[in-house]
Amino acid sequence: MKFYRCEVCGLVLEEGQLEENCPKCGAPKEKFIELDPEASEKHVRSEFTNDLHVQLIHLCEKLEHVAEAGINDNLDPSCVKIFVRTKAYSKLLKQLAKAELAGHITKGKW
Ligand SMILES: [Zn+2]
Repeated sequence: MKFYRCEVCGLVLEEGQLEENCPKCGAPKEKFIELDPEASEKHVRSEFTNDLHVQLIHLCEKLEHVAEAGINDNLDPSCVKIFVRTKAYSKLLKQLAKAELAGHITKGKW
């Protein structure tokens, strides 16, 4: 499968998705350059992992909501302690996943 990157905004599309203009920035079709085989492989290989990171971020957000509900419920100190830890860990995991995605983008892995 061939992939093309918009030289103006960086959007990557499959050959069949190309339109007269970039759907993101409006640049003409001629601004799309074909990815070399290595860059194409990176794009394909990283797509699944990037989707997993996005799912992880959503799960962390759900965990934060559960933790906040537990903190607000305030049944007893040992429960609150677990929920406070959960909130802190989920925030950390979410930031780690975001940082990893940001790193992927700078390395062309998206
Ligand atoms: Zn573009």
